[in-house]
Amino acid sequence: MTADQRATWASQYADTIMGTFAVPPLLLTHGSGCRVTDAAGVEYLDFLAGISVNALGHGHPALVAAIAAQAERLIHVSNLFASPPQLELAARLLAAAETGPAGRVFFANSGTEANEAAFKLARLQGRRGLAEGEPVTRTRILALDLSFHGRTMGAMALTGKPAMRAPFEPMPSGVEHLPATVAALEAAMDERVAALIVEPIQGEAGVLPLPDGYLERARALCDEHGALLIIDEIQTGIGRTGKMFGYQHAGITPDAITLAKGLGGGVPIGAIVTFGAASELFTAGTHGTTFGGNPLATAAGNAVLAEIERAGLVARAAELEQTLRAAIAGIASPLVAGVRGQGLLLGVELSAPVSGAVVAAALDAGLILNAPNESTIRLAPPLILTDADVADFAERFARALAAAGEASPTGAAA
Ligand SMILES: *Cc1c(COP(=O)(O)O)cnc(C)c1O
Repeated sequence: MTADQRATWASQYADTIMGTFAVPPLLLTHGSGCRVTDAAGVEYLDFLAGISVNALGHGHPALVAAIAAQAERLIHVSNLFASPPQLELAARLLAAAETGPAGRVFFANSGTEANEAAFKLARLQGRRGLAEGEPVTRTRILALDLSFHGRTMGAMALTGKPAMRAPFEPMPSGVEHLPATVAALEAAMDERVAALIVEPIQGEAGVLPLPDGYLERARALCDEHGALLIIDEIQTGIGRTGKMFGYQHAGITPDAITLAKGLGGGVPIGAIVTFGAASELFTAGTHGTTFGGNPLATAAGNAVLAEIERAGLVARAAELEQTLRAAIAGIASPLVAGVRGQGLLLGVELSAPVSGAVVAAALDAGLILNAPNESTIRLAPPLILTDADVADFAERFARALAAAGEASPTGAAA
């Protein structure tokens, strides 16, 4: 692509798309497997997967065929009617989460909507057992500093980034943010807490895992005080961490999990799955959606889950973590200070705040990466990653680190 062509679409973008996003560096036109191609015909290795979304990569034949076939049959019917793909996906999710017969699913269209439902679930928990008109005292909702739960008012109120909330205050009331430590949770928990919401690994914050033992202690404290334990699995779920859901590494049972991102493989879908007594909180008329659970989106979800199972991609994600860690160690760059995370959600900690330069240099080397903060590179490739893709990644990432290290004296000196 010539500079003129780039200038044309970039200015068209700036002149038409709302200014909520920076003007993107690439105009992408197609993709296959772990590669995407831009309008100039340049191919990139995609180590972001639409931010943990394209679990099956790009153009996966099973997903494409399922979407095409469902589009021919039925795309949308509203929640006044049921459809077979919706029932199938609900059954698949309840089985994957091992909810037993008490589990229930509400389908939404995005992560923020799934968390909005979780917020409402917490409010209903606060009213559980009260007679009509009786004052509600269980009004506190605990969330974590640095957390990310979405951009609508409720999901944003849960989000532990004050700067993100500030322009839109006042927030819905009751949410308190805590440091991600067991001590902070123990100090905060009481009979006025309706729910605690946490991410197993805070992806947007910089791939920060919860401390060891946190979820186990959170489960016990929530039980003791009658609060719901809600786990935001929007980024960590659907096999990404080497288990179907991130909380499964801790061996606990939550009261609810929220899903989106990888679930549709790129087709917009969200869900909240409830366990046990939490499944009784939403009753007729208390929540709703026009598109949620429509046949097209749920057919995509079924294709993603079926392919993950068929190809053993959950175990493969765990195996690929080791391959990737070894590949990064092999680069032996002074800019790499460590690797956090689990499965195919890894954060490469840099020894200098040059993540932006690394991402830019990676793009020049044909590699799509992401920088959730100034000293972290997030890796979230498709679960279908091959060993050859990892070798290709290592070569391109090494070049990017070298280029960014040369450009930054702090990085080179580290
Ligand atoms: C992406 C994300 C969300 C928001 O999902 P959207 O589909 O963008 O609304 C919420 N929570 C977590 C942990 C996420 O990663």
